[in-house]
Formats: sequence, C-alpha cells, structure tokens
Amino acid sequence: MDATADPMIRLDGVGKKYPDDTVAVHELTLEVGSGEVCCLVGPSGCGKTTTMRMINRLVEPTTGRIFIGGEDVTTMNPVTLRRQVGYVIQRIGLFPHITVRKNIATVPQLSGWNKRRINNRVDDLLGLVGLDPKLADRYPHQLSGGQQQRVGVARALAADPPVLLMDEPFGAVDPIARDRLQDEFRKLQQALRKTVVFVTHDIDEAVRLGDRIAVLREGGHLEQYATPATLLAQPVSEFVANFVGSDRTLKRLAVTPIDGATLEPIGRQDSQLRTVEANESLRDALAILLDTPEGRVKVTKGVAEGRHPIGVLTIEGVHQALRAEATARLTSEVPAP
Ligand code: ATP
Repeated sequence: MDATADPMIRLDGVGKKYPDDTVAVHELTLEVGSGEVCCLVGPSGCGKTTTMRMINRLVEPTTGRIFIGGEDVTTMNPVTLRRQVGYVIQRIGLFPHITVRKNIATVPQLSGWNKRRINNRVDDLLGLVGLDPKLADRYPHQLSGGQQQRVGVARALAADPPVLLMDEPFGAVDPIARDRLQDEFRKLQQALRKTVVFVTHDIDEAVRLGDRIAVLREGGHLEQYATPATLLAQPVSEFVANFVGSDRTLKRLAVTPIDGATLEPIGRQDSQLRTVEANESLRDALAILLDTPEGRVKVTKGVAEGRHPIGVLTIEGVHQALRAEATARLTSEVPAP
C-alpha cells in the first residue's frame, strides 16, 4: 500500500495527563500519510486508546496539537469532526435496540441525507463488508460476532469519512473469524484507501495490516515508528525487540517479497513442482516449499494464460532474499551526502 507524501493526520507534541495525574501520553509526535494504515501497538496501559480518542476529541489533550488534513482539530466543532472520522471499537458498540440498517444509517441520518440515498448507501456498504442484504433487518444480537464487527465497520464508513479510527476492532472475535476480518480489511483498504489509525496489542495483526507501526511504551512514549519490515529487522531498542518477539525473523517472511534475483533456473526435473505466484510473500512460498519432497517451488508471474514460470525458489533462495531485503532497506535509508 503506498501513500501520498502529505500527512493526513499529524500529532505534534501531544500529551494527556488525567486529573489524577496519570500521564497517559507524553509529547507524542507522529504523522500518518494520506491512505496509510498506522498501527499503534504496545503493552496494556501504554496510552494507545487515549491517543486514538484524542484524535476525535473524545479525550482532550493537555498539551500539543492534532491536525487532520492540515486543520487543527481543537478548533473544529467536535460533532462535525466526528462525522469526518469513522470510529470502530472493540465489542462493536452497535445500538442494540435498532436494526442493522438503522445502525449503519446513523451518521447519514444525522447529516440529513434523504431516505433513498441512505438506503442505497446501506445496501452498498453491506456488499462492501461482505454481509448478506437480508441481515439488514435483524437486530445486532441476532448476528454472529464477526457479522456484528462487519456492521461496525460499515457504520464507520457510512458517510465516507477520509479518516478511520479502529480500536482493537477484531479483538473480541475468535481467531478464525479474526483472520477473515483482517483479510477483508486489507482488501477493503486497497479499494478505499482511507487514512487509518488502528490500535492493537497484537504485533502479528499490526505486521499484517499496518503500512507503519508505532510502538509505544508506558506513558505514551514513542519507541519506534517504522514500516513492519524495518521494525522486525531493526528494532531500535530492547523494548521493541522484546515486543516484536524472538520469532521476528519468521515474521519478516510475511512482509518480504519473493526476490526474482535469488531464483534458480528451471531444470528439466522441475516440471512437476508446485507453484507460487511471484507477488506472494516469502512466507507463503516457504510454507509450500517445506511441504514438498523436492524442497523446491516454481515461481510464476502473470495472470491466466499469460502466466509463466520465472525460476525455482529453494531454502537458500529464501535466506538470500531476506538478506537482500535488509541490505536494500539499509541502502535506501543512508542519507544522501
Ligand atoms: P489497553 O491495551 O489495556 O487498552 P491502552 O494502551 O489503550 O491500554 P489507555 O487506555 O490509553 O492504554 O490508558 C493509558 C493510561 O491512562 C493507563 O495507565 C490508564 O490507567 C490511564 N487512564 C485511562 N483513562 C483514564 C482516566 N479516565 N482517568 C485516569 N487515568 C486513565
């Protein structure tokens, strides 16, 4: 997911001290580019939710400023602000006494849209989040956890806000539903390109969904803000290294592409090999490779009839690709003389 250079969200020295003197967030400076997903991660109590709630002014900062699209949110009317910022929370927060259709229609209704426009929008959104239209007339308790979470996402997207805040949105569903929701979110985001701040305590979720990850430690101190690949390969402190886990090299496989330069030529004996697409991750390729007696997997490029093999990946190739990615990243980070 690429993003434009302009930050859509900018936090400038933002801090929050609660009335009982708890410093939840300390001088946090952070930018999120337009169309980017920024994941806030860190241990419980490190200030993730407080940070997120300051962006839509459910919590007022005690220091610093927050800008959305260049505008200082503290000068905006909070109601107008919240209509421009979709908000999805854990355990959904749907209104239990109204139907799915009415839940999704909340913001358009408050914004005075006519009935027909609202109904069309709700129908579109149900399709977008993969819900059967016949669920529209049910009440939230008549849906599964995963379905309710989809309604939560649809409701947040209803007025097409440029910014989405998502606070542990998939935290309350079982691992299989969670995996599907994450997958659907990635596809949705590829199509919609919202600017998203996504709170999670799950580093795997952050690596999977984030364009950039902000690791916070207690007191809302920013330890590192980097792409998943950089965070996993070069944690800046012991705290970050511990947080991302001792299996960080395995996690890197999921965010490292297959490198054409590390493939072996295709030999005669390779005609029956299983295949993997060149645009998949090293993790997908390795999973197949380890499952084959040959220890080799054919990499293909192109679509449909145009698909053709470009080489064979072996375990040595996986190793080389990881090293090449690290070298390329380091080279791109060296400042120009
Ligand atoms: P979790 O992962 O457990 O949800 P978090 O990283 O989202 O945690 P916050 O909810 O932002 O953390 O809380 C940060 C700190 O601020 C914690 O020490 C918490 O106890 C404190 N805190 C949060 N809300 C209040 C409040 N209303 N009054 C006083 N302290 C608060």
